[in-house]
Amino acid sequence: MAGAPRAPEDGTARALFVDRDGTLNPDLHYLREADRVELYRGVGEALSLAQEHGYRIICVTNQSGIERGFYTAADVDAIHARLNTRLAPFRAHIDAFYYCPHAPETRCDCRKPGTLLFERAARDHRIEFATSAIVGDRGLDVQAGDRLGLLTALVVPPGHEESMRAEVAREGIRPAIEASGFRLAVLRVLARG
Ligand SMILES: [Mg+2]
Ligand SMILES: [Zn+2]
Repeated sequence: MAGAPRAPEDGTARALFVDRDGTLNPDLHYLREADRVELYRGVGEALSLAQEHGYRIICVTNQSGIERGFYTAADVDAIHARLNTRLAPFRAHIDAFYYCPHAPETRCDCRKPGTLLFERAARDHRIEFATSAIVGDRGLDVQAGDRLGLLTALVVPPGHEESMRAEVAREGIRPAIEASGFRLAVLRVLARG
């Protein structure tokens, strides 16, 4: 069947790695209260579609607010549970969340663009990077994806083109896909898969 989802046949899976703040939900800066978390429009439909195409959905997020003392790991867990509650009406589900709790000064290996959390996810879920993708809203998402050989997609919301152009120039990042919203980014990933 033309255009049918193609899943790896060797027991490995492919993943759609997604950033959280600014990608799935508005970035409310050190957000603590789960009941304030809402998905961007189109996220539920897009994730549902990606799952139909055989992608595991894995969220990898930097949450330095934990080490900074702004919120706890339990707060973060509650936000992640809330995201999946919000996704349920769309028959979509984030299969796993991985977060870095450290501040940048700690210089850990798990904070993006570090790749440790992605490697852990790959072991836990038998993910093959070569057939996987990442969607994020920052240069560090693209950088992590490049280090792992993922297809990279950058969401640049309308009005953010200038600041993103500056970040792209400063950090020398080159996403394979640029889209004005999450749904469009995912559609472009699926078109390549
Ligand atoms: Mg982000
Ligand atoms: Zn870390």
